[in-house]
Amino acid sequence: MGKLNVALLRYLSRDHFRVLTAVEMGMKNHEIVPPSLIASIASLKHGGCNKILRELAKHKLLAYEQTKTVQGYRLTNGGYDYLALKTLSSRQVICSVGNQMGVGKESDIYIVANEEEEQFALKLHRLGRTSFRNLKNKRDYHKHRHKMSWLYLSRLAAMKEFAYMKALHDRKFPVPKPCDYNRHAVVMELVSGYPLCQVHHLEDPASLYSELMELIVKLANCGLIHGDFNEFNLMLDNEDRITMIDFPQMVSTSHPNAEWYFDRDVKCIRDFFMKRFSYESELYPTFKDIRKECSLDIEIAASGYTKEMQEDDELLYPAGLDDEGHKAEFSPPEQGAEGKGRFCRAPERGFTDEVEDDSEESEQTSEEEDSADESEQSLGLKELCSVLQSVEGQIIAAGDRAEATSSVIDFSEDNKKIEKSIKIEDQTGQGEDPADKENEDECPELVDLSRLNREFRPFRDNESMFHINDHRTRTTSVTSVGSAGSRSTIPPELVKQKIKHQLTKQQKAAARRRLQKGEASVYTKQRREHMQNIKSSVDAASFWG
Ligand code: ADP
Ligand code: MG
Repeated sequence: MGKLNVALLRYLSRDHFRVLTAVEMGMKNHEIVPPSLIASIASLKHGGCNKILRELAKHKLLAYEQTKTVQGYRLTNGGYDYLALKTLSSRQVICSVGNQMGVGKESDIYIVANEEEEQFALKLHRLGRTSFRNLKNKRDYHKHRHKMSWLYLSRLAAMKEFAYMKALHDRKFPVPKPCDYNRHAVVMELVSGYPLCQVHHLEDPASLYSELMELIVKLANCGLIHGDFNEFNLMLDNEDRITMIDFPQMVSTSHPNAEWYFDRDVKCIRDFFMKRFSYESELYPTFKDIRKECSLDIEIAASGYTKEMQEDDELLYPAGLDDEGHKAEFSPPEQGAEGKGRFCRAPERGFTDEVEDDSEESEQTSEEEDSADESEQSLGLKELCSVLQSVEGQIIAAGDRAEATSSVIDFSEDNKKIEKSIKIEDQTGQGEDPADKENEDECPELVDLSRLNREFRPFRDNESMFHINDHRTRTTSVTSVGSAGSRSTIPPELVKQKIKHQLTKQQKAAARRRLQKGEASVYTKQRREHMQNIKSSVDAASFWG
C-alpha cells in the first residue's frame, strides 16, 4: 500500500513540480522517460534538470529505471499523488491531509480538510496492481499499449467514479456528495459510519434488507447497476442509514450482461444477510422487475465521460478471468462480440482471491508493479512518514475523527514558503548521474568509425615516406635531387604502388565521408524524432489534465 507523503510538499520548489509534470507528460508515450526529453519538456537546462531528477528520485516521487535500450525516469504512485494533491490544493478544495482511514482493493482513502476545516474523504485510485498484471497477460496488450499504463487506468477510474457519484447524488441517491477530482484522486463527502462488513448486529435486518433491494431496483430503473453491491461498499451510520460507495465498475442496464450483474448484486446481499444475520427472504428482485424511469447511464455517457473512455472500460476491471485464464466463479456468461471483453470487477475480498500471478509470462509486469510498490513502501523519510500514521484497514469512526485531525498536516502555507525552505539535500557529486552516464555511452557508429580510422593510420604514417601527392614535399625532393635525375631514381614499381595506395586512400576517405554523411542523417533523424517526441508529449498536457 502506498504511503501518502504529504509533508514532502513543503520542501519542493516550482522547478521540482515542473520536472515532475514533465515526466508525467513524457509518460503519455514513454514507459520510461529519458532525461533529455524531460529537460526539453520542462524547458530546463540539462544539468539543473538532472539534479532535480535525482532529488525527486531520492524522495521516491520518481523512479530511475534502466533497460537494455533505454534509461530514464517514471512517475511513482507518490509522484502522482503529489501532482494531484498540488492541483487540488491550488483549487482550494483541500488544504490538509490526515490519516488514512480506509484501504480498498484498488484505492487508498484518506481524511482531508479544506481551509474551513471541513473534513472530506480523498480516494486515491491505485489501478494497476492486480488488474494491470492480468491485463497485460491475458489481453491484447500491444493493441492497447498506450492505454495500459496505471496512470491512465487510475485516472479513468477516478473520472468514472466522479461522474457516477455526481449523477447519483443529483438524483438524491444515498451516495457521498462529490466535491472534485483530479488525475486519480476523488474528493467526496466523508461518510460517517462503518462499512456493513463490520456490522454484526442489526435491530431490524428485514427492513435494511428491503431498503437495499429497493436501492438496487431504483438504480436499475435509472438504467444503472452498481456491479459491486456488497457489504464492503455499503456504509451504515448509527441510525442504520445506508450510504452506497465505490462506483468505477458501474454498468448500464443495457449492457449485454446486465442481467447477470444485476442478479449478482442481489445475490451478494442475500448471501450476506443469510450468513451474517441468519436472515433469509423469499422476496428478492429480478431483472424483469425493472421499470425504466430514466436513463442515467446515457446521461453520464453524454457528459464528460467520453465514448473513448467507455470503450476503455474493459481495461479497468478485467476480473472474471482467473489466473489461468479460466472464467472465475463470478465471471459473466459468454458475450456477443459487442460486449466482448467487458467484464465487471469481481466482488471484493471474501468473494475473490487476491490475484498473485506468478506465471513466468507475468514476471516482467510484476516486477514493474512491484518495483512501483516497493519504491513507495521504502520511503525512508521517517520524519515525513510519522506525520501520516497509516491506519491500514482501520476505519475511523466519527468519534475518532477529532484525533485524526490532530495529526493533520497543513500544506497550504507551505506552498507560500516553498522557495525559502528548500531543504532537500544536494546530492551533486554523490553517486552517478544516470543522465551523465547516458552521455558517456559510446554511440555504436562512432565506435566503428574510430576502428576504421585506426585501419587508415598505418598508411597515413607512411605518408611521410612517400610524399607522392604532397606538392610541397615533392618540390623539396625535386629541388634537392634535380629534375631529370630525381625522376629516374624512383623505380616505376614504387610509383605504381604509391599511386595505388593513394587511390585506395581516396576511396577510403570517400567511403568515410559517405559513412559520416549517413551518420549525420541518422542524427538528424534522431533529432527530428526527439523534437516530435517533445511536441507530442507537450501536446499531451491537456490530455493529462
Ligand atoms: P475500493 O474501490 O478500493 O474498494 P472504496 O471506495 O470501496 O474503495 O473504499 C474503501 C474503503 O474506504 C471503504 O470500505 C470505506 O470503509 C472507506 N471509504 C471510502 N469512501 C469513503 C467515504 N466517502 N467516507 C468514509 N469512508 C469511506
Ligand atoms: Mg470498495
